[in-house]
Amino acid sequence: MKPPADLNIVPFVSVDNMMKLILHIGIETFLVELAGYVEEDFRRWEHFDKTARVAAHSTEGVIELMPASDETLYAFKYVNGHPKNTREGRQTVTAMGLLADVGTGYPTLLSEMTLLTALRTAATSAMAAKYLAPQDAQTMAIIGNGAQSEFQAMAFRALLGVNKLRLYDIDPAATRKCMGNLAKFGFEMVACGSSAEAVQGVQIITTCTADKQYATILNDNMVGAGQHLNAIGGDCPGKTELHRDILLRSDIFVEYTPQTRIEGEIQQLAGDHPVQELWQVINGTAPGRRSASQITLFDSVGFAIEDFSALRYVRDKVRDTPYFEKLDMLADPDDPRDLFGMILRAA
Ligand code: NAD
Repeated sequence: MKPPADLNIVPFVSVDNMMKLILHIGIETFLVELAGYVEEDFRRWEHFDKTARVAAHSTEGVIELMPASDETLYAFKYVNGHPKNTREGRQTVTAMGLLADVGTGYPTLLSEMTLLTALRTAATSAMAAKYLAPQDAQTMAIIGNGAQSEFQAMAFRALLGVNKLRLYDIDPAATRKCMGNLAKFGFEMVACGSSAEAVQGVQIITTCTADKQYATILNDNMVGAGQHLNAIGGDCPGKTELHRDILLRSDIFVEYTPQTRIEGEIQQLAGDHPVQELWQVINGTAPGRRSASQITLFDSVGFAIEDFSALRYVRDKVRDTPYFEKLDMLADPDDPRDLFGMILRAA
């Protein structure tokens, strides 16, 4: 029997509609609810078919495909990382993604994911920090004040109550932009002249810089007992942010070990250096922060299950809104085997 015509139409969320959806839900509510979806999917980690992302590297950047699926849904994201793009007026990171039904293989959602990636990265960082950061954390340094920075700030406030920010970027214009955007949200903010100044007295350090090299955004002497590091900018072979000695003093938490060994800060360490996958902390089978003096590091590279969760969230939220278009993306001949005849009839 032929499915109703509407099942052959794929909802598409454009950048314009994604912005409308975010404003309709509210940025903080969006981040909190999305973090809930990511947390739920990390808790049922073992139900997923997982694979390290497939990356095509070039001298200027990387293009990646990120698939994940469970028993009912399949998702993938296309994403790039080109640090030089901002100098040409383009984004460092752009993305789009698709959700499909495992039962039929039919796509059920196509969405922009440049905004959604910033939201899911921030939601995942803050969700991880709930388990890893000092309990009473109120102050965070953000080093790298580009596209991801405000999303990180908003997520850490919405999920942890962090409302004091110390900001640093090699480009002071980026810090001014970040402070300007966050001004109406009531943060206490200080613009700093160096990374060393930014990390003074903070409980959490977020590094989200973009540079295609082994960079040293933080030296060993800048990190003190009890701090939580949320390192999101080191996410490619040959692209890291932390001095190796910091890693040797930290308890390291990762998303999916096989991918992080290739892409994360831990590419600087031996292949058997112990790390803890975050999903086990979330489902209660491994400890998160154990003491006030421990240095915890979330070595984030971004994993496909976070995109799966984000697409699942958008699918659920967009359903009863006008914030999508209907795409004629699936061939729909009257007789499924008469694909050729469909063209002849169209003439
Ligand atoms: P962006 O280009 O918009 O911003 C990066 C900022 O870092 C720029 O303002 C730049 O001036 C600054 N910077 C570069 N070198 C610096 C240094 N040495 N010290 C201080 N600031 C420095 O990029 P973005 O979209 O904000 O992304 C930031 C990073 O996060 C990128 O490396 C990106 O690949 C990564 N990222 C990771 C995830 C994840 O899931 N882990 C997700 C999205 C992006």
